[in-house]
Amino acid sequence: MDKELKIFNSLSSKKELFKPLVKNNVGIYVCGPTVYSNVHLGNCRTFISFDLIYRYFKHLGYKIKYVRNITDVGHLENDQDDGEDRISKKAKAENIDPMQVAQKYTIDFHKVLEKFNTIPPDIEPTATGHIPEQIMQIKKILENGFAYEVNGSVYFDVLKFNKSNDYGKLSNRDIEELIHNTRILDGQTDKKNPQDFALWKKADPQHIMKWESPWSIGFPGWHLECTAMSTKYLGNQFDIHGGGMDLKFPHHECEIAQSEAITGKEPVKFWIHSNMLTFNGKKMSKSTGNNILPEEIFSGKNKKFSKSYSPEVLRFFILQAHYRSILDLSEKALAASEKGYNKLISAIKKLPGIIPSKEKGDFNEKDWVKRSYDSMNDDFNSPILISELFNAVKFINSVINEKQKMNLSQWSVLNKMIPIFINDLLGIKTAEKQTSNLDSKLIKTIELLIDVRSRARKNKDFEYSDEIRNKLFEIGISLNDDGDKTTYSIE
Ligand code: AMP
Ligand code: ZN
Repeated sequence: MDKELKIFNSLSSKKELFKPLVKNNVGIYVCGPTVYSNVHLGNCRTFISFDLIYRYFKHLGYKIKYVRNITDVGHLENDQDDGEDRISKKAKAENIDPMQVAQKYTIDFHKVLEKFNTIPPDIEPTATGHIPEQIMQIKKILENGFAYEVNGSVYFDVLKFNKSNDYGKLSNRDIEELIHNTRILDGQTDKKNPQDFALWKKADPQHIMKWESPWSIGFPGWHLECTAMSTKYLGNQFDIHGGGMDLKFPHHECEIAQSEAITGKEPVKFWIHSNMLTFNGKKMSKSTGNNILPEEIFSGKNKKFSKSYSPEVLRFFILQAHYRSILDLSEKALAASEKGYNKLISAIKKLPGIIPSKEKGDFNEKDWVKRSYDSMNDDFNSPILISELFNAVKFINSVINEKQKMNLSQWSVLNKMIPIFINDLLGIKTAEKQTSNLDSKLIKTIELLIDVRSRARKNKDFEYSDEIRNKLFEIGISLNDDGDKTTYSIE
């Protein structure tokens, strides 16, 4: 299957054929949330996008190691090197321990993602649980000459690194331009150059989250955490690194620089960036207040929407857009998704009850399966997969309205594949999975019994063949012999 999967790699800005570093294995690292507040729907969009990706690899049969961290220290306000730690700030405001803040919002994050039916990662490391690993990496970067210490803090030397490497290759930034822009914005004195970034920061006496290190009592830089946790669990080179588009610079650019400064090798084969959820045309964001919590939408208790929407409808709404497109949240868009979702669910609920006929309807089931897989193989194109599901719905509804027939092959393919596409790949709960799976299994069992009976007849064991027919008849399944062929109908 992997021969066909193409992924848009942010590093090359091209769709590339996916080839794992180790056959049949895939290592994925996704930047997790900074747990200082409840996750908003924008954050959830990113995690749902990566859940879609994870589910597809799982479906293709890969052995996956999926790592998604929890950022519980070091992510400062405005993503800068100066300013307050987001978690410490909240802890001070609420007069509780920073770890209580982290715990509270980690629990909230898990609860929300569970409602969205996302599969938990295989490993969920915390930044505070990996301080020794980060200290080791800083030592290595210093040893290799790409960092310097000033007053107990350690900074990455971007200009020096750029002499032998390409800083800016992920975000397509020009270092000269960067120097020009950062100099005006940054008033810091400790750094040699304003575009350098902190690997370790000396803590002020009032700072709560701090650890001992060879340089000072302090705390690690945000970018370094992800380098430490990704390489610890996935190795110095791994297949996929993901996160929201807004993390490309500086966070991911700095991750590449750190790894290359340590090992001399490019750390990641495929960088995947998901696009932003906007609200009223602007990025959904905690800091600007332009955000909405999933719970507010599920409960309907908010001033922004006239009614509530279920987690399934929200997930469906998110997957109706490609993960690399901007998606705007509005009442109109949610109402349209709900209508589509209901139409889809209502048709697939009726599908198992359709009685297959001998006649074939105007629907090429084999082509339909191929087109559905093609859509996922084309950079996880969920909106195209959903439009293929609606093609199937159109056919199912025309059979229900007796405009055409559905034969056994069409019936079996639809009953088998629709739950796979909706439940397994899109991760949308329909509660119908069991029934339709059961029914397709029932059909296979009937076919098997027909086969057993024909063999008995061939061997002239008519007593046994009649017994099978009579017993099936008793449970409402009639067999009709037409020469060598046997068909059946269900009451
Ligand atoms: P944070 O908790 O700020 O570190 O963000 C967690 C994840 O949510 C990151 O991958 C961000 O890129 C992502 N994110 C933040 N805002 C949005 C948004 N409006 N739409 C989609 N993803 C977002
Ligand atoms: Zn990260």
